[in-house]
Amino acid sequence: MSVVSSLNIRSGPGTNYNRVGSYGSNTPLTFDAWSRGTSHWDPIAKQWDNRWFRIKGTNKWVASAYIYGNPKSNSKYINPPNNNGGSPTDFTGKVMSVVSSLNIRSGPGTNYNRVGSYGSNTPLTFDAWSRGTSHWDPIAKQWDNRWFRIKGTNKWVASAYINGNPKSNSKYIDPPGNSNPGNGSWQNPLAGSWYAIYSLNEFGTPRTISGTHKGIDLSTGNNTPPIKAAKGGKVVIAYNGTGWNDGYGKYVKIDHGDGTETRYAHLSNVNVQQGSYISAGTVIGNVGSTGNSSGNHLHFEIRVNGVPKNPRNYIKF
Ligand SMILES: [Zn+2]
Repeated sequence: MSVVSSLNIRSGPGTNYNRVGSYGSNTPLTFDAWSRGTSHWDPIAKQWDNRWFRIKGTNKWVASAYIYGNPKSNSKYINPPNNNGGSPTDFTGKVMSVVSSLNIRSGPGTNYNRVGSYGSNTPLTFDAWSRGTSHWDPIAKQWDNRWFRIKGTNKWVASAYINGNPKSNSKYIDPPGNSNPGNGSWQNPLAGSWYAIYSLNEFGTPRTISGTHKGIDLSTGNNTPPIKAAKGGKVVIAYNGTGWNDGYGKYVKIDHGDGTETRYAHLSNVNVQQGSYISAGTVIGNVGSTGNSSGNHLHFEIRVNGVPKNPRNYIKF
């Protein structure tokens, strides 16, 4: 911005990271990712802004509040490294005893090269997790598409064959080439968070009170992670009040301007303004258990020209 005489460059998205240089007024910049960190007052928009932009091809960041320009709806979003308080936590596990040989891959999925294997009961330490191809967990007896990264390497193993789970503040990495799963313009509203899909509350499940289930329920257990807009658009409902609200509780509805809308229900809090325009990935609130809910979960709907559609047809959960 021309009103900014010197803009600090940081080694991460926040003033808690080292200053590694500065830019002068009106410097044109190209960014390849954005994240959230410490807030600054945008002197033009006259509002607080906690977004940070990454200089293309580097690990250098600048505060969005002092930049003319915004991410596109499909620009890459990176989880803040410390967004759950403290540093990302490593986690441990071991190869299940029922698995005689566990393939190691060069990425999170069986589409990546096999680079070795581990035997039964091998203890392992992981520094990140992601999502990729699914495997049947022989103990939990459910499909699991999570992959865990061996600490300090770029080697991955399928979570389905590991006893052990990420911590709530373990590092999550978007699947490579999969930042917009689905048809190319939708993203998972709980990307980067822990969730399980209620097996009985899939789309179309018959309900006693309200006909068939018009969305999908994503349970987050004891956690109330941030919910991100699945697509950019206009916030047409941002209900942060109390009460039942037709079962939705605290609730956000976004009109994406192309005949599609998304609905996010049972939130613990709503932090977007009704009538505002937001980009895909904007945090709209947190998971909760308001309205017709008995535990923390996100009820998520996609409607096309008013007709509820199965979100699984658009987004890889
Ligand atoms: Zn639901």
